[in-house]
Amino acid sequence: MSPEKNENAAEAILRACHVTKQFPASGGRTLKACNDINLTVYRGKTLGIVGESGCGKSTFVKMIVQMFQPTEGEILFDGKDITKLKGEELRQSRRKIQMVFQDPAAAFSPKMKIIDIVTEPLMNFKLIKRSEREAKAKELLRMVELPEDFVYRYPHNMSGGQRQRVGIARALALEPEIIVCDEATSALDVSVQDRIIELLVKLQKEKGISFVFICHDMALVQSFAHQLAVMYLGNIVEVLPGSEVASNAQHPYTQALLSAIFSTKMDFTKKIESIESEAPSPVDAPPGCPFQNRCDRCMDICRKEKPSLKTIGEGHEVACHLF
Ligand code: SF4
Repeated sequence: MSPEKNENAAEAILRACHVTKQFPASGGRTLKACNDINLTVYRGKTLGIVGESGCGKSTFVKMIVQMFQPTEGEILFDGKDITKLKGEELRQSRRKIQMVFQDPAAAFSPKMKIIDIVTEPLMNFKLIKRSEREAKAKELLRMVELPEDFVYRYPHNMSGGQRQRVGIARALALEPEIIVCDEATSALDVSVQDRIIELLVKLQKEKGISFVFICHDMALVQSFAHQLAVMYLGNIVEVLPGSEVASNAQHPYTQALLSAIFSTKMDFTKKIESIESEAPSPVDAPPGCPFQNRCDRCMDICRKEKPSLKTIGEGHEVACHLF
């Protein structure tokens, strides 16, 4: 599970360029869920995205899997802007980017057996015949290290970890180039979480799949992500190699997230050291730095000018006036 450092040597497979997503809010106001996001996913690598709930990370990945249309910006996949695709071209591009959801129990129909769940995408795209379903389902279950005889089980006869493996098998069915995992391990016990991550790392090595892994658990995601993006109030505030998170995170928000992890690990009897105040609403985001009301290093300029991402090292960008 050791992340590699040099992302610049890797091939970009997906680029989000100035992606913004706004939703109408009450009183004629606008909620800016994602604000000018620039991120790159590299072939065969994992991009982790962390941040508190409501930071915009789920909205961002829903744009990658084309469930939402960006208000502004482009998402280039293999050099093509997938936000402009329509009809059959859009349907075909969706094969290449698949998603694994947080709650597999809610994602599957309880009336469907595992054979139906994992082969449904292949049947929808008419890639296999009915007579080939059992063999294909068994092959997919082997890939995710589940017994072949699970093909005729129902999801409710399986554990949470087994159901999540079925979710991964279904995502693998169309041989995607990118799999987006939306809090895919958050509902699982820690030991089951670790085994699912080991499986994803193994699949990545075998098949060269890129993962976009969104998670609120920084300790977990930094353990296997090649690069980590930290989101706050719809903005990317820091991007850095996963291997440098513990030693070299610079943004005050990233550091606050880290201090919460380490204080928890060091002493379970102490109150978790965390950020004092609440994040402002994305509807009423203040001018200047989005983190200003929670930052103990806030300066005058932070209330007036929004900091943009600046490169401060190899694969390391920070949006903060301290840099
Ligand atoms: Fe804190 Fe200012 Fe940096 Fe924002 S720009 S994180 S307020 S120091």
